[in-house]
Amino acid sequence: MSDVQAGPALSKRNGIAIEVDRELCFGFGDCVDSAPNVFELDDENKSVVVDPDAQDRDTIMLAAQDCPVDAIVITDPETGEQLYP
Ligand code: SF4
Repeated sequence: MSDVQAGPALSKRNGIAIEVDRELCFGFGDCVDSAPNVFELDDENKSVVVDPDAQDRDTIMLAAQDCPVDAIVITDPETGEQLYP
């Protein structure tokens, strides 16, 4: 995938915005295991959000919490409040 996504991906279903910090992500893929179809590793072995609506909110929040380097940032798109980390 060559299109690097700029900015957070909005999950309308879950009312959250999801962004991967590419500087932090080291590409081990825990998030892909935790929330398949939401995250995928790109050709630089960095996680990207491919479908922010593919899993429910709890699953995505757990995936963010499981990221060993806290590279997954979850925000409330309405208030801008950071929900994780
Ligand atoms: S779990 Fe974190 S470090 Fe690992 S691929 Fe996902 S975003 Fe990157």
